[in-house]
Amino acid sequence: MTYLTTRGRARDADFETVLTAGLAPDGGLYLPKAWPQASAGEIAGYAGAPYAAVAADVLAAFTGDAFSRDALLRLADEAYASFEHEETAPLTQVGDEDWILELYHGPTLAFKDFAMQILGRLFDRVLARRGERLTIIAATSGDTGAAAIHALAPCDHVDIVVLHPEGRVTEVQRRMMTTVEAPNVMNIAVKGDFDDCQAIVKSLFADRAFVDRVRLSGVNSINWARLAAQTVYYFTAAAALGAPDEPIHFVVPTGNFGDVFAGYVAKKMGLNVGRLGVATNANDILHRVLTTGEYRPTGVAPTMSPSMDIQVASNFERLLFDALGRDGAATRALMDKFSKTRGMTVPPSALEFMQKDFVSYAADETATAAEMRAHFEANGTLIDPHTAVARVAAKALREDGALSGRVVTLSTAHPAKFPDAVAAATGETPALPPAYADLFERPEFIAHAPAEPAAVAAIIVERFG
Ligand SMILES: *Cc1c(COP(=O)(O)O)cnc(C)c1O
Repeated sequence: MTYLTTRGRARDADFETVLTAGLAPDGGLYLPKAWPQASAGEIAGYAGAPYAAVAADVLAAFTGDAFSRDALLRLADEAYASFEHEETAPLTQVGDEDWILELYHGPTLAFKDFAMQILGRLFDRVLARRGERLTIIAATSGDTGAAAIHALAPCDHVDIVVLHPEGRVTEVQRRMMTTVEAPNVMNIAVKGDFDDCQAIVKSLFADRAFVDRVRLSGVNSINWARLAAQTVYYFTAAAALGAPDEPIHFVVPTGNFGDVFAGYVAKKMGLNVGRLGVATNANDILHRVLTTGEYRPTGVAPTMSPSMDIQVASNFERLLFDALGRDGAATRALMDKFSKTRGMTVPPSALEFMQKDFVSYAADETATAAEMRAHFEANGTLIDPHTAVARVAAKALREDGALSGRVVTLSTAHPAKFPDAVAAATGETPALPPAYADLFERPEFIAHAPAEPAAVAAIIVERFG
């Protein structure tokens, strides 16, 4: 399996390079040179198969000879054994043609565990083989950080640094990160928003001296291996509902465009995916670009779905590249324009390409709260605000006629991660699972920094340099 970059100026790479590099040396994002194909027979065989077995199959299509199918199966078995639900990613029917895909049964109660639990194990194996150690850095809007820390703390060959926007994550989210006491784990609270954190990470990667000094690497959703791992539940869900015969639409609560892009990848691999519904909260840059072609951030508005309080969606560049006919120079030109002027316009032909696969909807706070309440009244179960955003979108898109037939809405977090918003909307306070019963008594480990790359770099060097 060979990978190229979206900006066309770095050499082709193999999976191992893509895994450990994160961002490509030309500032672009890695993508497979050609989409691997899953046959109709293989896809049908995924119905009822153990999740780890499907994961090993799908990942094997991306890893080339870096890992054997057996090694992948062992790693996937271990990774998904840490999930609470025996089906790993269970589907719940909530209407005639509506399902919810529960992706929150992992160790940190959000879908990010699906990728991170595998990624940590892939990293550790590669580094053990090479006799190397890396410092991994991640910016988090709330859930990536906890998933990364829980996946990487047990690893022998990595240190992990997580930046989160101070005061912009829930207390449960923060405590899931800051209460893990391990010599290789460091949390930094940044005075700024998530886009500031993400910009700091980008600028640290651009500093070659710093990258070499701490051997910097990334696990943000720009890391291709994460997207590859996230394609798996699109396969299991569609297979469970009778793929490949009938198309399934997916509606995805979207921030950095990673999860929904994984659905696009599954479609490119031959899965019978209908349309992909991009659901955003008030931070609706993706909804605006997909309807108008204008990609222009407006500043982040805090909402009750903080993991989607993002304006600059890194993975959108991957779709842009495909939509521009995989033209690296054209992608680079548009991304340069974007970073210079804080805006760009997707050319009409590229927008048309995107609109074939993607539809979108932005849900406001009132509709999101009303949906949590309506869902509770109809089903007797609680959904978190991110899931509620996607349910609002799924219903609206169906009403508009943008989606018809079977729709799966991804449920990306456990309601107990967002207890205040859920309780305010429904009057019910969701309980944390037993493993987290004493979360509020545990001591926290945390450093603080202004939103400046140099200040963050200094803290990291002091600890891990
Ligand atoms: C990260 C996250 C999202 C957004 O996923 P992207 O891949 O960034 O689009 C949605 N919901 C929850 C709960 C998340 O943690």
